[in-house]
Amino acid sequence: MPSLAHFEAIAASLSAPETRAFIGGQFVDAVEGATFESINPATGKSLAHIAACGAQDVDKAVTAARTSFQAGLWSALHPGERKAILQKFADLIEEQAEQLAVLESLDSGKPIADCTGIDIPELCHCIRWYAEATDKLYDQLSPSGHKAVGMIKREAIGVVGTVLPWNFPLMMLGWKIAPALAAGNSMVIKPAEETSLSTLYVAKLAQDAGIPDGVFNVVTGLGQHAGQAMGLHNDIDVISFTGSTEVGRLFLKYAADSNLKRIVLECGGKNPSVVLEDAGDLDAVAEQVTGAVFWNMGENCTSNSRLIVHEKHKDSLLNKVLNKTGEWKTGNPLDPHHQLGAMISKTHFDKVAGYIETGKAEGAKIVLGGQVDDRAGLFIQPTVFDKVTPNMTIAKEEIFGPVLSIITVPSDEEAISVANESCYGLQASLFSRDISKAHVAAQKLQAGTVTVNCYGEGDITTPFGGYKLSGFGGKDNGMQAFDQYTETKTIWIDLST
Ligand code: NAD
Repeated sequence: MPSLAHFEAIAASLSAPETRAFIGGQFVDAVEGATFESINPATGKSLAHIAACGAQDVDKAVTAARTSFQAGLWSALHPGERKAILQKFADLIEEQAEQLAVLESLDSGKPIADCTGIDIPELCHCIRWYAEATDKLYDQLSPSGHKAVGMIKREAIGVVGTVLPWNFPLMMLGWKIAPALAAGNSMVIKPAEETSLSTLYVAKLAQDAGIPDGVFNVVTGLGQHAGQAMGLHNDIDVISFTGSTEVGRLFLKYAADSNLKRIVLECGGKNPSVVLEDAGDLDAVAEQVTGAVFWNMGENCTSNSRLIVHEKHKDSLLNKVLNKTGEWKTGNPLDPHHQLGAMISKTHFDKVAGYIETGKAEGAKIVLGGQVDDRAGLFIQPTVFDKVTPNMTIAKEEIFGPVLSIITVPSDEEAISVANESCYGLQASLFSRDISKAHVAAQKLQAGTVTVNCYGEGDITTPFGGYKLSGFGGKDNGMQAFDQYTETKTIWIDLST
């Protein structure tokens, strides 16, 4: 891994990143000329002033997208041609991987080792995976007998909007754009206001790769302006949203108040690591549990912020988790030795600090961390609460920070029952040596993804999405992602005359 000095030199070379919206193949200021500030959360210093788009800018972007779609500039290309361009797009991103990783780290506070080792490679892999799939999507014939041919054709849906969160800016971008573009759609993309810079950087690479002007549009701006304008726009066919459940609800209202656009929601989570009575190798369990909660500073929709552990393992596992957590160093995100960077903003820092105070006030016991002080920056040390009960606030609400709540249970049945006691259902990790027992328990867990003897989200081949308030309407990843960005059309040909 290159040194801190290496990444600081790249950061210095990125002192004037692109800050304008990207509409119809051109970088443009917002119509009203407004901007908003993007702050480096690790230093508190201003990084850039970014175009604050509103309804007029969104309308321009949707018009550019619709025009390109109807002209067939992308949608009517042979799938093999789209594939080649998307592959080139991934190649160009890979060539700029270090610049993008540094930009992502500066803008979001994410550790550089994650940006270089996970976020950018995953983005490239995702684009390549869907590029490869582009010319392997077959349509279907129905069993319509000899007197008719019933064709079930998959068609690009048209203009796809996506509204993105700040926690994995480029990875979430990839999850949306790769299947939507591979299917032949034109797009309007709104990054989170905290993290617009890497998406704007990628927009230029999309153009350089040969994605036609008007197909890939980026409107930067605040949620209540640009985001709302997208939700209410009458010419966007689908919006794939990743973010909080609260804002996800708004998108359902926007759709109802406009053109009934399709809405896909990937929202919050309060995910459990569930350690059953027969769990083996507690060192390995501790490693997974620790990574599951602290990765990306806990700013992760699949953060396993609850550890539900059988009483037989509790003391031993707690010791091992505390030891493992000692390996997680917090500090300057550009330093490759740090596994935890800065929280995204002061507002979010205060929210997480508030949960830590609530945990203490409600009687949970701090066994690690828990001292929160923003004088040295927006850093929060890994914090572990023991003696948490399922009705406590920290056991119920999504904290989105590096805070683990340990709930001890007397039986496996109770472990599953407590795990399901949540309004969310995004992800769960199960630890057991008995594969049959694990399989039965996995079926009982109410979560879109259940991992056994590991933490994870599956990979690009497996659909990802939640149960309950974690979302609905479609899945990211896997071939299933094409469903939300395509319509199926029945063409019935009568052969009887
Ligand atoms: P957020 O809901 O505050 O913002 C998400 C996006 O919505 C941003 O682009 C924002 O500008 C926009 N937005 C905000 N207010 C809006 C409004 N009134 N109208 C229209 N758009 C609006 O979420 P966040 O804080 O960026 O991200 C954190 C949340 O995202 C967490 O709850 C996390 O669990 C969730 N998340 C879910 C997944 C998943 O795949 N399920 C992945 C990552 C993050």
